[in-house]
Amino acid sequence: MDDCLFCKIASGEITTDLVYETESVLVFRDINPQAPLHVLVIPRKHISTANDVTAADAGLVGEMVLAAQQVAAAEGYAESGYRLVMNCNADAGQTVFHIHLHLLAGRSLTWPPG
Ligand code: AMP
Ligand code: ZN
Repeated sequence: MDDCLFCKIASGEITTDLVYETESVLVFRDINPQAPLHVLVIPRKHISTANDVTAADAGLVGEMVLAAQQVAAAEGYAESGYRLVMNCNADAGQTVFHIHLHLLAGRSLTWPPG
């Protein structure tokens, strides 16, 4: 997708603070962090929203969770805890239409979210 910010990050056209990558996913620091650890896990493949994930993407979405788990552990938050969030469309506040998991940790997070 030519116009997609996260596709440009995946291709290297836009640089980020990369913390982890595999053949299929990237993890980089959020530009506007909401917790001491706030990174985004994205697939290299463009998928616009959670609504667009297909059964064929199930393994890829699983890899996103595994990448988040690896980073949470590497940053020391496996035991204290962390939150994984994927926003979908307007009511959830999705602003970048290339799916991403937010990994948030390092403070006590309130529930329910706003
Ligand atoms: P969402 O609202 O769920 O679509 O989340 C989009 C996230 O992308 C927000 O938390 C932004 O702060 C973050 N973001 C936007 N542009 C960049 C960028 N260039 N590098 C890192 N994070 C970004
Ligand atoms: Zn994209």
